Amino acid sequence: MFDNSVKAYTQACEVIPGGVDSPVRAFKSVGGTPPFIERGEGAYMYDVDGNKYLDFVQSWGPLIFGHCDKDIEEAVIKTVKNGLSFGAPTELETLLAEEIVEMYDYIDKVRFVSSGTEAVMSAIRLARGVTGKNDILKFEGCYHGHSDSLLVQAGSGLATFGTPSSPGVPADLTKHTLLCEYNNIENLKKCFEDSDDISCIIIEPIAGNMGLVPASPEFLKACRELCDANGALLIFDEVMTGFRASLTGASGLLETKADIITFGKVIGAGMPVGAFASSKKIMDHLSPDGTVYQAGTLSGNPVAMSAGLTSLRKLKANPSIYNELNEKALRLVNGLKEVANSNNIPLQINTRGSMFGFFFCENEPTNIKEVGKCDFERFAKFHHEMLKKGFYFACSQYEAGFISTVITNEDIDACIAAASEVMKEF
Ligand code: PMP
Repeated sequence: MFDNSVKAYTQACEVIPGGVDSPVRAFKSVGGTPPFIERGEGAYMYDVDGNKYLDFVQSWGPLIFGHCDKDIEEAVIKTVKNGLSFGAPTELETLLAEEIVEMYDYIDKVRFVSSGTEAVMSAIRLARGVTGKNDILKFEGCYHGHSDSLLVQAGSGLATFGTPSSPGVPADLTKHTLLCEYNNIENLKKCFEDSDDISCIIIEPIAGNMGLVPASPEFLKACRELCDANGALLIFDEVMTGFRASLTGASGLLETKADIITFGKVIGAGMPVGAFASSKKIMDHLSPDGTVYQAGTLSGNPVAMSAGLTSLRKLKANPSIYNELNEKALRLVNGLKEVANSNNIPLQINTRGSMFGFFFCENEPTNIKEVGKCDFERFAKFHHEMLKKGFYFACSQYEAGFISTVITNEDIDACIAAASEVMKEF
């Protein structure tokens, strides 16, 4: 059933390292060959063998309206006809920035980039530039893209491949990266006792790169208080959660406010986009008004802007979408939990907005060490069997899953019925 994908993968491996342009796609965590995708339509993806999958990955989050949404497609085509890129300002950038600013009371300005990696890298430079301090504090299992100083005990692909850090990153470049256990307030306090040079805390307030593991409200409050007491800035990395977890991202579900927010793929509706945003006071440190340098030839690309703008406007026009998505996510994970319970299989489930996660283990993990103790073999088996039945889940227990508006309750019930057959065989 995967013959053409196997052929495509073999061919790709000849000219692309590991056959993929982003490591997690290679299915190394679950084994087997990744299906090569030919096209998407609504809630479904079709591979080069003609297999049809209900897509719970949604390009790792951005496709809230599913594949080939008509409004987004039309906006993109209209923009493309005027030219792909100019390297000069366009009004579309202002319009998308306005949509984002309107949603957060503590954000005045947005700078667009082309990926989440760039967004975080730039936000950290800004934090260092504003505070005049050098260290950054990150948490084990949080992934913030692949820039040098953040490739330390990150989640996602690094966790999948068990790499604490990457060769090619000189120790000199990570010596300013302090590491702390997620959801561990004592550990956090200790970091601030050990260094008086912390420029910022960067955190996924709802981590999606060690599976779905939310930070506790007390932990986020401690992050805020320690930043305030020590002249550091708090950065919420909302590359995955921004406009996904709620209309105001993870921030909208939390009491704690950040100083800087990073956005990514979701605000581009599937086009390569990233952004970082903050108060006027902080953002005015950026070049050309200020001295902190940051740039990008294709930043604010008009095609990407028009896709994002259409998607965000659709979301704002109908905010009840988030309740519907959350209900569907709950329907899915509760269904899976029931099936697991009836087969005596320990399963932990979680949702935040339209994001969901499930772990084959006895207790809900609160950090990456606990995620690492889950049953990965069982996860791999579940993943494969579900794939064969036409359900495409993220290919690692270290990743989150996503619901789109076009996934129906019937789709979800079919998935639960399939999971029931699979788990009986465990
Ligand atoms: N931050 C977070 C929270 C992410 O989830 C990701 C990507 N999954 C990134 C940063 C990096 O984004 P990109 O892959 O677009 O560089």
